This record gives sequence, C-alpha cells and structure tokens, in this order.
Amino acid sequence: MLPSYVALSESGELHRRAERLMGMLAACDICPKDCRVNRLGGEVGFCWSGADPVVSAVVPHFGEEPCLTGTRGAGNIFFGNCNMRCVYCQNWQISQDWTGQRRNTVSVEALGEAMLALQEKGCHNINLVSPTHFVPQIVAALALAAPRGLCLPLVYNTNAYDSVRVLQLLDGIVDIYLPDLKYSDNGAAREYSVAGNYVEASRAALKEMYRQMGPDLVLDDAGLAHRGLIIRHLILPNDIAGSRECLRFIAEELSPTVHLSIMAQYYPTNKADRKDLISRKIRAREYEEVLEMLEEFGFEHGWTQEFSATDIGRPDFASAAPFAWEGGLAPAPLHLTRPASPAP
Ligand code: SF4
Repeated sequence: MLPSYVALSESGELHRRAERLMGMLAACDICPKDCRVNRLGGEVGFCWSGADPVVSAVVPHFGEEPCLTGTRGAGNIFFGNCNMRCVYCQNWQISQDWTGQRRNTVSVEALGEAMLALQEKGCHNINLVSPTHFVPQIVAALALAAPRGLCLPLVYNTNAYDSVRVLQLLDGIVDIYLPDLKYSDNGAAREYSVAGNYVEASRAALKEMYRQMGPDLVLDDAGLAHRGLIIRHLILPNDIAGSRECLRFIAEELSPTVHLSIMAQYYPTNKADRKDLISRKIRAREYEEVLEMLEEFGFEHGWTQEFSATDIGRPDFASAAPFAWEGGLAPAPLHLTRPASPAP
C-alpha cells in the first residue's frame, strides 16, 4: 500500500504543488487568518512564521490512536508556532513562544531528512502535528524525501483551522486527515483561541477532507491506518467546545460512519487559569453526556479515552524526551483503546 504522494512525486506533480504553495507565502493566505503578509520577504503574520519551517520535536510517539501508534509509534513532527492561540494549549511551550522557537528554525532539506529519519526508526507514519502554517514547506520537503524512498502514510494532524484552497492542493498528498473539531461557537473560539471565524472555516475544511477521503478508514492486516479521516473532539469543561453541535455537524453534514476520537484529557494549562469556565478538568458527568451523544447520533466507529485520561502526563518540550511518561519507546499507553459505543 504505497501512499499516493509517491506517484505524484514520480510524475512531477508533487514538485509543482510545492512550488504553487510556496508562492502563496508571498501574500500569505495559507490559513483562514488570511494575513496577506510576505513571508518570503521577511514578514510574519498571526502565526509568527516566516519562509523556513520551525520544527520543535521529532519523536516516535505512542499516545495517538491505536491505528496510528501501532507497535513502533507514530512518527511525530511537532511544528513550532500556530495559527490559533488556545489559552489552554498543552503544547504552549512550542506553539506560543515564537521568540524561543526561532532556535528551532530549520531548512526544508532538514525537514525532509527528519521524515526519512522517522522512517528509518521504524515508525508507522509521518504524523505532522500543527502543520497548517507550514504546509508549503512540508510539501517541498516531501518532494525531496519521496524520491529518496520515503513511503510512509502522511498524517495531517490539525486544529481544523485550515483553508479549503490549501486542502485542495493537498488532495492526493495527505493520506490521513486527523482534524480536531474544537468549537461550534465563534464567540468561544474567539475568546479561548483568538479564532473568531473558526466555525465556518473548520466546517468547510472538514467537508473538503471528507470529500477527499469519504467515510472509510483503510486499515492493513495489522490494524494500521493507511488512508482516511479521523475526527477528534476535545471535551472542554462547561461545554465550551459545544460538543453537541460539533457532533451533530459531523453526523448530519458528513456521516455518522466517520471515525471519531473523543478526548477526555483536557487539563487547564498555559493561561487557562485566567478563564473561570475552563480553569478545571472536565467532570465525569460532562464526559458521560458526550458519550451518550455518540449513541444518540448513531456514531459507530472510533475511540474514546478512559475518563482517567484527565490525569495523563503533560508534554515538556524543554526536555529531550517531551513525553517521558510514556516510557520512551514502550508500546502504546492505553488511553485511547475503547471503541466508541455502537449505535443502539
Ligand atoms: S499561515 Fe500564518 S501568516 Fe499565513 S494566513 Fe495563516 S496565520 Fe497568517
């Protein structure tokens, strides 16, 4: 099962897409922030990112969904900076410290080398974490790595604040979309993530991802994902995420057969203690209510975390092993193991 970007590489189309995307950086509209700054000329917009990629960590990771983690880990590439500003971001050390992250600026060639190194380590995929603001550089790196033998599925692990035009240029390049649908209310998205048009943008993005992938998640005999769409949803306290409307949108405007990943791991970190409504973990009852919605909307496929996931460790990107609680390269921690309840 070769990823489709291999054929695009051989035909020269991958290189052409990379050039087109890189050109968009001259008046950047890579994401729905639509800053129109010239990132090729030294300007930066809302995401504080320029012409070169910022790569904050490259690690085999064992905390993703089982079909991505497998036995040898997902090959995670964590990008620095972000096009959102979630006050509760658990990766705030790399997503919101743009001055500190300058030291992690690398070349496109080095990003391609990182992809090949993760393949060399035996990882099951290349899992691009917070890739949105660096899509052009990622495709350019892929165009260098594919002719050198890169052949792992490409996972686009995003906050869903993505531009449809850019996603269309990723058609045939990305193998697995992994968006986190975060809000169903723009007021909440503005207050907690500085993304006042999040609802329209994320829903349009998810529709485009679904158009490309359809409802099926293609797994191999070992249960590893090779192509498809998995939609995450992080439950927030006091229903700040608007879980019912998020799930209703997925069920009614995409399909209840989509694979979901419901996350209970919210922890008030970063600046969340300044906002009363999200300054605590979620409660068991809040979690159970969302699980009941899965049945109500007829979802059949996916994963839910154990409620104890509210106590899992936090990454420390100041450390050489940001996910030390996972025990290095040990097999997958089991906090994403329970299939979502089947429809009644
Ligand atoms: S990628 Fe960055 S500069 Fe470009 S539109 Fe988005 S936030 Fe603005």
